[in-house]
Parts: sequence; C-alpha cells; structure tokens
Amino acid sequence: MIENSPDYARSMNPSILGIDASFIYQKGLLKLGAPIKLIDDDFKLVSAHEFGHSVLMYVGGISLSWGHKGSTNALLQNVKSSTPGYPEKGKIDLMKYYNTNKREPDASQRVNDSIAMEIDIKRLIWSSEISWKI
Ligand SMILES: [Zn+2]
Repeated sequence: MIENSPDYARSMNPSILGIDASFIYQKGLLKLGAPIKLIDDDFKLVSAHEFGHSVLMYVGGISLSWGHKGSTNALLQNVKSSTPGYPEKGKIDLMKYYNTNKREPDASQRVNDSIAMEIDIKRLIWSSEISWKI
C-alpha cells in the first residue's frame, strides 16, 4: 500500500495465517520534506521486520513474535521498561524494539546497523524445512 498523506501509517504482519501483512510505503512524507532515500530505506527496513514476524511466529508463537523477542508486551506491543535503548554502536536486532526514551538512533544508524540476527537466520532456514540429500 502507499500512504499519500503525511501521517505515518503503520505496516503490520500479525502472521496468524502465515504471511498476513500490509507493508506501507510512506510516500506522503515527501510533503513534509523527507528525502526519498529515507522513505525508501524506511520501507525496506519495516518490510524486512514485518516479514520477520512470520518466521518468529512459526518458530515461537505470539510471545516471540508479537513480544519482539522479549522487548515488548506481547499483546499491546508496548516497550517494556526493562528494554534497553538503541546501542551506541554495533548491530541493531531487526526484530527487537528498543526503548527510545533511553537512547534513540539517528536514521542512518537505524538503517545501516539493523540486521537479521544469526539466530533468526537459523530460524528461517529451519522453518523452511529443507531436506538435504547426499
Ligand atoms: Zn514488529
């Protein structure tokens, strides 16, 4: 979907039925002067995160997926008080939330340092049920 108003529309993937997602491109942010690269990068990052919910749901259910690997309350998806802020440097877990009251990254750090963690790549491979033939 494309959001043409300047209001940020929220992408989502409850992944109750496999991939049950809506990925929203925030075109309306152009009206607020946002650079197109920022809008494109945000779309890629958010889409990757939302797709990741299907993997987490498949391997760990609601608590892992909606709970963002323990960083949010599973039902309301609000950040727990115990959740740390974004790291000063280093990798940012694509599938976790961080407490932005403790530390918020700039847009380039969030885009450049967010990755699918090794455990989640392994979960993706495992959930694909590949069978190896020798
Ligand atoms: Zn999420």
